[in-house]
Amino acid sequence: SEPPAPLPIRRLEESLINRIAAGEIIHRPASALKELIENCLDAGSTSIRVTVKDGGLKLLQIQDNGCGIRKSDLPILAERFTTSKLSNFSDLSRISTYGFRGEALASMSHVSHLSVVTKTRSETCAYRAQYSDGKLVPAQPGQAAEPKPCAGNDGTTITIENLFYNTPTRLSALRNTSEEYSRILDVLTKYAIHNPKISFAGSSAPDLSTTASSTIPQAIRMLYGQSIQKDLLEATTSSGDDQKKPESWTSEAYFTNANYQSKKTIFLLFINHRLVESSRIKRALEGVYNGILPKGAFPFIYLSLEIDPRSVDVNVHPTKKEVHFLNEEDITMKICDALQEKLAEKSQSRTFEYQT
Ligand code: ADP
Ligand code: MG
Repeated sequence: SEPPAPLPIRRLEESLINRIAAGEIIHRPASALKELIENCLDAGSTSIRVTVKDGGLKLLQIQDNGCGIRKSDLPILAERFTTSKLSNFSDLSRISTYGFRGEALASMSHVSHLSVVTKTRSETCAYRAQYSDGKLVPAQPGQAAEPKPCAGNDGTTITIENLFYNTPTRLSALRNTSEEYSRILDVLTKYAIHNPKISFAGSSAPDLSTTASSTIPQAIRMLYGQSIQKDLLEATTSSGDDQKKPESWTSEAYFTNANYQSKKTIFLLFINHRLVESSRIKRALEGVYNGILPKGAFPFIYLSLEIDPRSVDVNVHPTKKEVHFLNEEDITMKICDALQEKLAEKSQSRTFEYQT
């Protein structure tokens, strides 16, 4: 049989293109939250408060006490590729902020109702601005599209409402609001543990609250329960050689001993302070527990790895959470050895206690 005659190629409508592009960055409420938390951290916040309704689909609001956004920057805030964090391409190799591509808020404005209330230390009042499709829009029809003075604290509150209201297919795939809520809680919990000097609170999430100025193990205890802390071991490792070399690295790990048994592995991985995933590193670390934990029991592992930014490609798409970096296998092996050693030390001292 003959193939069908080709259909003409047409250009997609601009608004559709933007929605598709936004969907690549914002997959679900939890990915929006991750972007928003990273913005708060980039802004130097010490307190972050999150409000969630219907798993973040109805409302996701994040309030910080960071540097705020200048009134004069508000008109272009939600445009694509507008950022205060990167000024030229050579900056890419020594990036120290989470954001740099100016895509997150723009994306949110294409698939939700985005509003911002912000105040810098030098302004006398806060300003409110609302965005749609990348642009500042009037608060009421007929009004001017400009930031409106209002009362507000130093810092920024970003609200996204009705996420994916204009992408019904995406929305219907995310109907399970409790699943979305648990993903939100997971992102929030992980960032709270990695940033123990910052207080995190969920106002509609009483399950989450950390106080500032704690340590990582304290934050782990606050969020995963008292019982975990007595079973927590620590191991720090590094490349050992000249720390200025491009291949140098350091790692810090908190992980449970044989007394702690979870139904599945709880794995928190940060590379250069960015929450990422690596199934290979996870599998390697789980391997360390072979013969230590009974079948069907799994550990808690927090691992923070700092490597020379030149050996990870920061320009990989932000949603590519699965990372790769130079000398990955070697580094993973060294970390596994360090964990193994601590776990062995611990079980030996126990054997010794039993003998006396
Ligand atoms: P990026 O983080 O890559 O720059 P975003 O779209 O996430 O892109 O944010 C755009 C800009 O908006 C940031 O560069 C920053 O100047 C400003 N911004 C966003 N969120 C905050 C915040 N919570 N506090 C201060 N400034 C913010
Ligand atoms: Mg950002």
